This record gives sequence, structure tokens and C-alpha cells, in this order.
Amino acid sequence: MNNRKMLSKAFAGLFVALLALVAAGSSATKQQKTKAPKSVRLYVFDCGVIQGLDPGLFSFKKEELAETRLAVPCYLIVHPKGTLMWDVGVVPDTAFKDDGAAVTQSYFTATKTLKSQLAEIGYAPSDITYLGLSHYHADHVANSNEFASSTWLVRKVERDAMFADKPPALSDPKNYSELKNSKTIVLTTDEYDVFGDGKVIIKFAPGHTPGHQVLILDMAKTGKVMLAGDLYHYPEERKMKRAPTIEFDKEQSLASRAMIEAYVRKTNTQLWIEHDFAANAKLKKSPQYYD
Ligand SMILES: [Zn+2]
Repeated sequence: MNNRKMLSKAFAGLFVALLALVAAGSSATKQQKTKAPKSVRLYVFDCGVIQGLDPGLFSFKKEELAETRLAVPCYLIVHPKGTLMWDVGVVPDTAFKDDGAAVTQSYFTATKTLKSQLAEIGYAPSDITYLGLSHYHADHVANSNEFASSTWLVRKVERDAMFADKPPALSDPKNYSELKNSKTIVLTTDEYDVFGDGKVIIKFAPGHTPGHQVLILDMAKTGKVMLAGDLYHYPEERKMKRAPTIEFDKEQSLASRAMIEAYVRKTNTQLWIEHDFAANAKLKKSPQYYD
């Protein structure tokens, strides 16, 4: 081989190596910057608190509730094959000023941005593979637009209600408007297996809204946990079997509650009421995680 041929062969080899590097880089961006864990992890973020609501909305008198405040957590699920954000807060990050001070909007207060909490563990919203919302109420969707590049997992009835000419009750459509053009998977089965191995399941539990859904995680050490959306708000609802007045369809809500209670008993799943203030206060918060 003459010098010229050797040189062109060396360049060709370098080019192939560069292509491989570029390909590896782009497939890693939607995965995660940090190393993928071997098993499912759950991070719980502090996305704020709701206070001052009339307990009558939930069919309670104030003295019947141990705690009237409602916690607002957001969750990141990290699976070896990708990531899922579940519920994205009550106050949009865009409402924070540069000084980072807490933001209060009517009944809602947030002290930290979701973006800063994600950054602390090495993620940006654009890294997240999937977005799942338990339902469209304003206290679950505030940062949806940040996740418009993720694949949205939603039922048709819920999506249709969100983008109907008349916005649904208790919603704030400007905070999720960009999901209209997101890559979307329309869920049609009662259970949807997000990563295909049974570890992260979205389950249909309608009534609170037409397409309300819960998330069931199967973790190696923690076991099975259900993030129950707004199936319940206060723990007393579960004990005393009281239904809120704000349900889209109360009968359907009660049927979903009965179905879910049978499910968690049968499958030995812990049910986490997302808004339960006292229970939430005891949870490990990001950067700690459950696995
Ligand atoms: Zn809620």
C-alpha cells in the first residue's frame, strides 16, 4: 500500500469512529446523563402546598380533618430503559423571579422550581422520555409545557376534554397548551406497561376526571407502590368513604375506588395518596430516592 492509500484508509477509519461517537451521544440524550440504574428508582420532588381550601369541597367539616393542607409532590421514575415524569406541579417554574423566592398564587405556594430539583440529580426536562399526568386539574399540570418534547401518555377522553373549546373545570389550559403538538401515545387498555417489563404501569381509574389514572411501580427493595393521583385527597376520605364534591363523575369515582382497593389488596401494593400532607412529609425527597 502506498502512503496515499494508507492515509485515506486511516481517514476512513477515523470517520467511522466519529459517526459511532455521534450516534452514541444522540441515543444517550433521551436516556439520561447519569448512568442508567439497574432497577427502577422513584424520586419525590417538593412541588408545593395547597392551603385554605374549603374542606366542604371534599365533603368534610374542618374539625373532621387532622390536616387541611394538601401536599403537591412531583415524581420522576428512572427505569433502565428511560424516564417518566408523573405529575408536574401547581405553580409553573416560569412564575419564579430571578431571586428564587417562594411564589404564592391564590391557594397555591411553591418554594422550589421543578427544573432546579431535576438539575440537582442531573436531568433537564428535555432529557425526559415520557410525561404522565394523573389528570388535568391545575395542581398537577403546571409545568407540562416544559415537557412538550417528551412522549405524552394520556387517554383520549382526557386529552379531548383538555383541548375542548370550553376548558374543563379546575384546569389552567395555558400551562399545558404545548402538549397539543407533543408526540403522544393514546392509552386504550385499562393497564399500560410503560417500559414493557411490568415494573411501571399506568392504570385507568376514571371519575375524578374522565381519564384520571394512577401509576403502579414495582421496585426491587421498596416493593409495589401506587401513586394514586387524586383517587383520594385526604386520608380521611379513604377511611370514612367520603367522596369530594368536585368529581367529574361521582359514581364512576366510587367505582374506581372500589376497583383500586381490591387491586391493592390482591397485589400487596402500598397506596400513596399524593396530596396526603402528613404522609408526604415522611417521604424521602430527591436527591434521595426509593428503589
Ligand atoms: Zn389534586
